[in-house]
Amino acid sequence: RMASFPVEKRLDDFDVAFQPSLDPLIIKDLASLRFIHNAENVVFLGPPGVGKTHLAVALGYEAVKQGFRVYYANASQLIERLMKANRENKLEEKIKALTKFHLLIIDEMGYLPFTSEGAHCFFQLISRRYEKSSTIFTSNKSFGEWGEIFGDHVIAAAVLDRILHHCTTLNIKGDSYRLKERRRQGLIP
Ligand code: ADP
Ligand code: MG
Repeated sequence: RMASFPVEKRLDDFDVAFQPSLDPLIIKDLASLRFIHNAENVVFLGPPGVGKTHLAVALGYEAVKQGFRVYYANASQLIERLMKANRENKLEEKIKALTKFHLLIIDEMGYLPFTSEGAHCFFQLISRRYEKSSTIFTSNKSFGEWGEIFGDHVIAAAVLDRILHHCTTLNIKGDSYRLKERRRQGLIP
């Protein structure tokens, strides 16, 4: 079941009105977890502080509550683990272990670029989950910039092709919520 989320966040605590670029109906549909039943993906794109991790973790929490097995990982940490397994000739095993989760949350795609070995391992993971189980991704980079994350436009295109085939993408365009909080506290004008 469990998932070692980095923070505790709930959908009820998310102020949808603060982000006009988000359609409340889409959030409601995601909250129904229909996307997990259908083995579809979700991608949250946007600059820092707009609530990508909050929404990803909150959906993960709902999924755990409904009995789904959920695994949270930061993208860089996940790649590290996959590469370590690869070097120990255990990549297959590692990927198989990850297929046990109905929902995988891969947070912060794009803060650190992948090595070519990392990109290769990641592609294998995504191929294996394709049309079988759901993954939520968050990224500060637009899809056009994912080639830079993978350091290889061909692999990036192959990964995106699979991710986006059955996917809800939310482009969050608003202000950082952190900034708003600090403004409210009078810490900045
Ligand atoms: P990101 O992952 O996009 O950088 P986070 O999800 O970490 O941003 O959000 C930053 C902080 O602001 C977190 O504490 C989060 O709970 C809060 N937050 C962001 N957006 C909202 C929102 N619309 N309503 C309530 N809290 C929010
Ligand atoms: Mg985040």
